[in-house]
Amino acid sequence: MDIAVIGSNMVDLITYTNRLPEAGETLEAPDFALGCGGKGANQAVAAAKLGASVMMVGKVGDDLFAPGTLANLQQQGVDTRYVTSAPGTSSGVAPIFVDDQSQNRILIIKGANQRLKPADIDAAADALRACQLIILQLEVPLETVYYAIDFAREAGIKVILNPAPAVNDLDMAYACKCDFFMPNETELAILTGMPVASDEQVRLAGQSLLQQGLKNLVITLGQRGALWLQGDESHHVPSLTVNAVDTSGAGDAFIGCFAQRLVATGDVAAAMQSAVAYAACSVTGRGTQSSYPDADTFQRFLN
Ligand code: ADP
Repeated sequence: MDIAVIGSNMVDLITYTNRLPEAGETLEAPDFALGCGGKGANQAVAAAKLGASVMMVGKVGDDLFAPGTLANLQQQGVDTRYVTSAPGTSSGVAPIFVDDQSQNRILIIKGANQRLKPADIDAAADALRACQLIILQLEVPLETVYYAIDFAREAGIKVILNPAPAVNDLDMAYACKCDFFMPNETELAILTGMPVASDEQVRLAGQSLLQQGLKNLVITLGQRGALWLQGDESHHVPSLTVNAVDTSGAGDAFIGCFAQRLVATGDVAAAMQSAVAYAACSVTGRGTQSSYPDADTFQRFLN
């Protein structure tokens, strides 16, 4: 295996409605869609679609969403041997309500993702040791994230930590043990308490985080591309100009592609360039995983 993603699976339950019901009211909504998501799964799928061999360590519930989640990962080429079921627990779900103004209202129920424990890392230890890179996010318990970081360090495996969704009690000592720390600008603002409205402010906030001892800091900046800081060096990659129709999951597309290119080439600057282009391509399509191009489609987009 090239890459292991230790992280979340979520099922998006998307209701399209003209308006939201009042308390006590039952309302008929015109449409509904089901989607596979979760930051961990999204990143795993992006890397696999680009040709990396990817395994996932995660938890699904004890419900009708579990087989669909596993089948989706397998169809996208992700090894699910270590995605196990948590008895008596629901899968992670995200009920999403989209109104006729295209406004989203999203609830997140982490469900089985909260049951991913250090023992699950131990159970997958032999397979994990054969990987070159581990990717982590924060939709599973912090205790498990910290345990996985220490495991990877001992095994000599590179680690990308994506501190999402943002928390303000992240132990930065663990972030410093990772090879790449990859927040978006909102997460950077929450972690530093500093403004990030301009490029200069982002650079200052990034430098203050880097000074805590991070090895590499990669900040994704939405339409403004991405910034890589290492020591005194900074390297900005502007985004591609595209017709953006849906930016959900762009950050996960970026990380999945960055990981795949890093493993394939070992070249961080080249991985940044590819990731910015891949994420731009993903925002031209609807949905999250469904908007991630495979290697051939991505090549056509670049040409
Ligand atoms: P997140 O999905 O975590 O909020 P960002 O919004 O920073 O992450 O997006 C991740 C990456 O996706 C950016 O670094 C950029 O390369 C690309 N991207 C996001 N929005 C656009 C856009 N409107 N046009 C082109 N690229 C975009």
